[in-house]
Amino acid sequence: MDFKHRAENPYLLLTPGPLTTTPSVKEVMMKDWCTWDDDYNNLVQKIRKKLVRLATTKEELYTTILMQGSGTFSVESVIGTAIPRNGKLLALTNGAYGKRIVKIANKLHIDTMELDSGERAFPDLHQLEEQLMAHPDITHVTVVHCETTTGMLNPIKEIGDIVKRYNKTYVVDAMSSFGGIEMDIADLDIDYLISSANKCIQGVPGFGFIIAKIDVFKQCKGQGRSLSLDLYDQWETMESDNGKWRFTSPTHTVRAFYQAYLELEEEGGVKKRWERYHTNQRKLVEGMRKLGFETLLEDKCQSPIITAFYYPNNDQFRFQTFYDKLKAKGFVIYPGKVTDVATFRIGNIGDVKPNDIENLLKAIEESMYWISPQPQ
Ligand SMILES: *Cc1c(COP(=O)(O)O)cnc(C)c1O
Repeated sequence: MDFKHRAENPYLLLTPGPLTTTPSVKEVMMKDWCTWDDDYNNLVQKIRKKLVRLATTKEELYTTILMQGSGTFSVESVIGTAIPRNGKLLALTNGAYGKRIVKIANKLHIDTMELDSGERAFPDLHQLEEQLMAHPDITHVTVVHCETTTGMLNPIKEIGDIVKRYNKTYVVDAMSSFGGIEMDIADLDIDYLISSANKCIQGVPGFGFIIAKIDVFKQCKGQGRSLSLDLYDQWETMESDNGKWRFTSPTHTVRAFYQAYLELEEEGGVKKRWERYHTNQRKLVEGMRKLGFETLLEDKCQSPIITAFYYPNNDQFRFQTFYDKLKAKGFVIYPGKVTDVATFRIGNIGDVKPNDIENLLKAIEESMYWISPQPQ
């Protein structure tokens, strides 16, 4: 089993999940697992423990539940299980993933209010407080940590301080930041943190996970609005049956995740991973600005995870052509997701090193000739 990573993979994924995984993460998937055997379930339990440890030093207060599906399934399992029938949600939004939470809540007929700050601004803390004062029936507040739509890194500490002053349950979608940005969820007073296998832990897609505050979560028995996405039932089975999933678990993905987690430890933990992502992102932005590109966000709002760039100010620019040229050179980038301006995005999470970013910048420079006058 000799995986030649770059040779096997025709291109590097500069997309925020699925992302480029290491050869060793791919390699451990070459074995089949039995879902009720101890070998497998012990692995699940180890992962659950390790995730709590990664999230906080106050491990005794939190538990982890793994959930099949992509990250959205995990978000839906939290929204559908944590909010009681008479509950009310206030969703802070500034991008597509915040809005997805609103969509989920609407589908589930949950009483929901949205505080939208627009795609290029942080949530308005003053308005948040006003809404919480004006609507004492709000029970839960949601926010996205890194809004992957733009790369915006929302101030979850400042938001949490207000949410907790009003005694609300605090739900954070940290899908694209957990494992890549240091945080202690007990200090942040987060009740539910949601992430998934194929983001900063650098595993492959197939499941998400929720780190939940035990005393809050224990009150959710019987509240699930769906059978397969009932987070409480999933937890009960995992707790009582030593890591068993209720329904078929994504065994290969789980094994790959375990390996990815070990590699996060080997790299030196979240701080070191953050440094790599941060270096990637700074190099990328510096290089892109030299080439004449502009970032959508101001630097102070920007996460080290993904960066949105405006299309160049040139009528000849076609994203698809740009994309195809870069793909042929070994780099896959991401289309934009902002609603009112034309952007594209470049992620730098995954097995991506500063050297890869330098090569990407060269490829971008070469790929731009077609929109400039031909050199004589
Ligand atoms: C990736 C992501 C999700 C989940 O998306 P899926 O396509 O369901 O995996 C949710 N929120 C954020 C902020 C994300 O980056």
